[in-house]
Amino acid sequence: MIYVHVPFCHRKCTYCAFYSKVGTGNAAAYVDAILEEMERRKDEQAHPIQTVYFGGGTPSILPIEHLARIVEGLRRCFDLSQVQELTIEANPEDLTPDYLQALAGLRFFNRISIGIQSLDDGMLRLLNRRHTAQQALDAVANAHAAGFSNISVDFIYGVNDLRDLIDLRDLNDLRDLNDLRDLNDLRDLNDLRDLNDLSGAGCAGGEG
Ligand code: SF4
Repeated sequence: MIYVHVPFCHRKCTYCAFYSKVGTGNAAAYVDAILEEMERRKDEQAHPIQTVYFGGGTPSILPIEHLARIVEGLRRCFDLSQVQELTIEANPEDLTPDYLQALAGLRFFNRISIGIQSLDDGMLRLLNRRHTAQQALDAVANAHAAGFSNISVDFIYGVNDLRDLIDLRDLNDLRDLNDLRDLNDLRDLNDLRDLNDLSGAGCAGGEG
């Protein structure tokens, strides 16, 4: 697996313990550093690479030009012929139709992981998220429209004492999205015990 960390965020979410800096002021220099590290380590590949994962931070904060440079470096330095899954984490507010079209145009990522966290606008404000519930739903629809068929969504369920506020509305709302079959399957879980076990957890995989 190759993991590319993008340590930049628009702002810090209240629950976040992942390493990231606010803003993208030195993003170009950071991309230069990633490319340099790839060049230095390209001969260390001992096993076939099956997964490439861009996490953060917020990878979707990067302009497409920066992502394109990283992708080009990966293709140049490593044998990606065995790769099954190439994921980028993204935040809803970044996923405009134009951005997603450009992302799809890289012809690299085959999975997008969207940090939704909640579909309750009050909860989103409490978590210091920048997006609204509607933006989150639009982001999923936009990703589909851009051609992404493998989409995951990160949620935080049961934010400790605030758990009752969520009231399962998030998951119910997602039922209306036709293609989110995995989440539709959750309808059949009567007590959502597994999700309760995740109480207090942050966003999966780093980005939120
Ligand atoms: S949760 Fe995600 S978007 Fe929020 S500050 Fe942490 S890494 Fe950035």
